Amino acid sequence: MKKTYERPVVLANQTLAEGVFLASGGDCYTTSAYIHQSPETGRGDFRIQVNADHNADHNSNKNQCLHITFNQPVNYKSSQGTLESGDGTCTLDIAYAYWNNHTDHIGLGDLVVESEPGLAITFVWLEDRAKQY
Ligand SMILES: [Zn+2]
Repeated sequence: MKKTYERPVVLANQTLAEGVFLASGGDCYTTSAYIHQSPETGRGDFRIQVNADHNADHNSNKNQCLHITFNQPVNYKSSQGTLESGDGTCTLDIAYAYWNNHTDHIGLGDLVVESEPGLAITFVWLEDRAKQY
C-alpha cells in the first residue's frame, strides 16, 4: 500500500456571505469547507459543511483524516467523524471511516466548533490514509 503525506496547494480562497469557502488540491481529494451558521452574538457554535471529491486511481478503505485550520482557536463540539487531536487549538484532526470509491463525491456533514466571533477557515485537507489499488 502506498502512503504519502503531502501538503496540498490552495487553489481558491474567497469570502462568501455565509462564511469562508476554500478548496485545496493535492494528494487525491479536492476538499472544500465553509461556515454556514455562526452565532448571532459573542462566543458560540459555528457549523461547517465539509465536502470532498475523490479524484484517484484507487479506492479509500475506511481511513481518512480531515485536517482543518482556523484563524483562531476552536473547541471541538461534534462531527460525523472522531476527533483525533487539536481541541482548543487552531487546527483539528478528525478521523473518518468511509469507503470512498475512486471518483466519489463525499459529503462529510456538519462539523460544529465553538469559538469567538470572527472565525475563518484558513486551510482544509482530507487525507487518504488507506489507499487500495
Ligand atoms: Zn485516495
